[in-house]
Amino acid sequence: MADNCLHRYLFNDISVRGELVQLDKPYQDILSAKDYPQAVQTLLGELLVATSLLTATLKFEGSITVQLQGDGPITLAVINGDNNQQMRGVARFDESVQPGTISELLGKGHMVITIDPAKGERYQGVVALEGDTLAECLEGYFANSEQLRTQLVLRTGEFEGKPHAAGMLLQILPDGKGSEDDFDHLMQLTVTVKDEELFGLQAQDVLYRLYHQEQVQLFTPQAVTFSCTCSRERSASAIRSIAREEVDQIVAEEGAIALHCDYCGSSYQFDSIDVAALFDSQSGDINSDQIH
Ligand SMILES: [Zn+2]
Repeated sequence: MADNCLHRYLFNDISVRGELVQLDKPYQDILSAKDYPQAVQTLLGELLVATSLLTATLKFEGSITVQLQGDGPITLAVINGDNNQQMRGVARFDESVQPGTISELLGKGHMVITIDPAKGERYQGVVALEGDTLAECLEGYFANSEQLRTQLVLRTGEFEGKPHAAGMLLQILPDGKGSEDDFDHLMQLTVTVKDEELFGLQAQDVLYRLYHQEQVQLFTPQAVTFSCTCSRERSASAIRSIAREEVDQIVAEEGAIALHCDYCGSSYQFDSIDVAALFDSQSGDINSDQIH
């Protein structure tokens, strides 16, 4: 069983940092929302691991969304995670989708990485979907945006009869002391990790197997959970940001206005009484908080 934690580590004598994440429950929770074909399950697992690894670099309260979109059999795959490692995700796809490379799955498309601080400005990076794998796309993103050599290992598969997703990240530290040769050496060690080691071994045992000749410092792990941040209150705020006449018209036609959360499948309904209460309780300032 996976420990469902994100582990950060640092090499004592080499200016390189690492992360290791091993998931079963949050991955299974995300998969349970829909009947996803195998190819979509694999992509969502890799995206979940990648988003967890990326979110671990957040130095403030906020969230990171990694979204893949294209004109192929999978039109959308998205995972959103916050600094507390609360993850959620969803995909849209054609039932006939078969396993393949990133471009076979998504066709012509791109990856959008949105960093959304609780306070402050949102940052968005867009990169074309190039390379065969999600890991290659992300490594390209890091090379362009952070200009720090970064390597990712993203794995999904069945272990003890259940879907598991796990991965590792290696990144040269920005202090300028890490040499390319040292990074290459660690990278070669890291890619030798076997699926069953990633899925079945404790974090310290994985690190020992890979880097037993190095001094590695392992930090306190952080739990990774599936959790959706949608709520009735957030839905109410979203409705308040729509013009009252428009809301009234929908309620008159449909009997209620309903907001549906794609991430977790929850639905929030507001009938005419709810809507009246919503707008009457409003003190003039419009809250434009959206669900997503
Ligand atoms: Zn939700």
